[in-house]
Amino acid sequence: MSLAQGAPLLSRLVSSSVAIAGQAGHLIREIMKKGDLGIVEKESVRDLQTEADRAAQRCIISSLNKCFPKITIIGEEGEEETKVASGSIFDPSTTSLVDVTCPAHLSSMAEEEVVVWVDPLDGTAEYTQAFECSKNGHQGVCKALGVVCSSLLDHVTVLIGIASGGKAIGGVIHQPYYNYQNPGSELGRTIWGIVGGEVGGMKILPPPEGKLIVTTTRSHSSSTVNDAISAVSPDEVLRVGGAGHKVMLLLEGKAHLYVFASPGCKKWDTCAPQAILEAAGGILTDIQGNAIPYDASAPHRNSTGVLASAAGQKHGVYLEQIPQHVKDNLKA
Ligand code: AMP
Ligand code: MG
Ligand code: MG
Repeated sequence: MSLAQGAPLLSRLVSSSVAIAGQAGHLIREIMKKGDLGIVEKESVRDLQTEADRAAQRCIISSLNKCFPKITIIGEEGEEETKVASGSIFDPSTTSLVDVTCPAHLSSMAEEEVVVWVDPLDGTAEYTQAFECSKNGHQGVCKALGVVCSSLLDHVTVLIGIASGGKAIGGVIHQPYYNYQNPGSELGRTIWGIVGGEVGGMKILPPPEGKLIVTTTRSHSSSTVNDAISAVSPDEVLRVGGAGHKVMLLLEGKAHLYVFASPGCKKWDTCAPQAILEAAGGILTDIQGNAIPYDASAPHRNSTGVLASAAGQKHGVYLEQIPQHVKDNLKA
């Protein structure tokens, strides 16, 4: 199907991003199958990059650039993987594109106003651990790594977040391994949303009433993360990988709150999830309740943490419960 050139830019950008994220997910699966992850340590051993992160970023940036040459794109994997590589270009119009309705107030946006934040593979820690566990033939608990490995690949997502005027306005989350434990079912799914518009690709469900389920990091915890979680007195804590995956738990009704009182998360982790969550009626702010800015000059790091709540939750009440020493520890 060809792109309807008359459609608003945001509709075309979201529907193209759905197709491109799917192609990036295909690359991520192929690289795992080939068995050579090409792991590089970035800032620390807790911050890894693999060939899948690099190849997915080359694909996303080259393909978006070809279709929308005047937008600004900021990708997690830095300069080298930001250059347009002709061999990595995927033409979204060769696939069946989803129809995305653009709300009236966003329908006259120009490419020059748009900043796209790309996390080509969110949950790299879980991707590499799942690979190691599969090499060891582990299907449940990996004794060698000391981790539960039965569903780690569900934590992996591809994130394409669209911002304008410093705000997250649209987003795509692709989950390349969705259904990987259900042979015969379609592998992978893609969720998209526009703030003030629609959410597609997933049924939005409310979390259970009468209890509080918090989701948080499984591989980047700290004392401030744990202090913030204790302060809201959860009934259950789901420690899972990836910002994208955690926000999906909020959308699916599996958790009420995502708490990350730490500076490690970046704009490319939160832009797409925030836009989709807000399109579904939820809220994502920093740990002090401030909006996260997404203009091109904004610092990459979300140094004041992340607090996200599913639709209908009392975001402000949880913010008040976060201890002052945690908030003070996360100054911009
Ligand atoms: P997590 O919830 O630990 O999966 O983290 C969500 C996102 O933030 C992932 O992309 C992580 O790589 C990133 N992140 C969080 N904390 C850190 C950290 N201390 N160092 C590097 N990246 C981090
Ligand atoms: Mg990430
Ligand atoms: Mg990443």
